[in-house]
Amino acid sequence: MTLEIHDTLRREKVTFEPRDENHVRLYVCGPTVYDYAHIGNARPVVVFDVLCRLLKHIYPKVTYVRNITDVDDKINAAAKESGESIQAITERTTKIFHQDMAALGAHDPDHEPRATDHIDGMIALTEKLLKSGNAYEAEGHVLFSVPSMPDYGKLSNLNRDELIAGARVEVAPYKKDPADFVLWKPSTDDLPGWDSPWGRGRPGWHLECSVMSEKFLGPEFDIHGGGQDLIFPHHENEIAQSTCMGNIGFAKYWMHNGYLMAEGEKMSKSLGNFYTVQDLLSEFPGEAIRLALLKTHYRQPLDFTKDGIAEAKRELDGFYGALRGWEGHPDSKMETPAVIAALSDDLNTPLALSHLHELAGDINKAEGEEKAEASNCLLIAGKLLGLLQQDPEDWFKGSAAEGSLDDAAIDALIADRNQAREQKDFTRSDKIRDELAEQGILLEDGADGTTWKRG
Ligand SMILES: [Zn+2]
Repeated sequence: MTLEIHDTLRREKVTFEPRDENHVRLYVCGPTVYDYAHIGNARPVVVFDVLCRLLKHIYPKVTYVRNITDVDDKINAAAKESGESIQAITERTTKIFHQDMAALGAHDPDHEPRATDHIDGMIALTEKLLKSGNAYEAEGHVLFSVPSMPDYGKLSNLNRDELIAGARVEVAPYKKDPADFVLWKPSTDDLPGWDSPWGRGRPGWHLECSVMSEKFLGPEFDIHGGGQDLIFPHHENEIAQSTCMGNIGFAKYWMHNGYLMAEGEKMSKSLGNFYTVQDLLSEFPGEAIRLALLKTHYRQPLDFTKDGIAEAKRELDGFYGALRGWEGHPDSKMETPAVIAALSDDLNTPLALSHLHELAGDINKAEGEEKAEASNCLLIAGKLLGLLQQDPEDWFKGSAAEGSLDDAAIDALIADRNQAREQKDFTRSDKIRDELAEQGILLEDGADGTTWKRG
């Protein structure tokens, strides 16, 4: 089985050949922590979570690193506006980010370095770039000299005019070339800063990923991922910082997920289509949000809609409905070749999901051994996609909305109803059933007793 991935650098689908078959290394740019994560922030997390699951299925060892950007002008601005301290903002939003991504079924990366823990490494890299003549100091700033690197721009494939326009350069008199970018900049006393050979200052944004990827994965690793919006300038600049000093491979492959829109338009607070993960989780199960993200191929633009999540939830009802009542345990040795093949073709999640639907159909038609085998396959395939790992009964029970009956109260009412039925007090048992129905709790009486679900 070969894994094919679309490599942004080569601009085509290529066969993935890790630098070391025994240890695959993956780096993905993580969040800047100053606000609630929105659904666009969640897309790369879920996409690269599936990639990581697939790599772990194929290779014996995978190391996945995703950073936290906790020094950034956006964070400084948020602190100024709210009066909350920078540390309080970054700690609070990091915690929420972790909760949100866990609710979407994303595993934690193996390492999650924070930029502020690696300032020394950033100063050291800046010194190296100055020494090699790829950077220069001007007015308390240290800038990367883009003309010092002949193949700058190879990832984004932009010509010089586009690079300058895309860099959205402010007029900065200390820049020798308009495309040059900041490695280090001075900090005033009210801003976070660290002592450096160039005075008290803070790093430019791009520096941290060059430093932290090397620290945790070495100077040459396999895949670097992120959202498409990071190709330029962020990833272009990471390549410049990490490779200009010699024949250093840095990332062998580059993978980028496509843009996300919401309800057919670019997400914006003024249009009312700006969805934070927190807001969505108060309305929908995390698993339905995850499925809605995976129904579109990762490289395609994704139009994220609430109707789409509701549809994803109905599909999950179908999957869990097929698995309901199966008491076996998944046999991890079982293979699902069609699903693996789909994912190995540049993470074709829409095709993989169509195989999951076929398996659910098989379960519904089959009996005995065949049914057990199909159930097994569905669970194994679901695991690769980070889906279908909860007990079907728990899925149908859902989670209680605020102010409504919790699971224990429902179970107590069902016990009352059972007692009433035993006593042939059908007026009372019907009354309990109707009361539960009014709260959206639907009962199903079967041979093994009564089950329920939130409607
Ligand atoms: Zn980065």
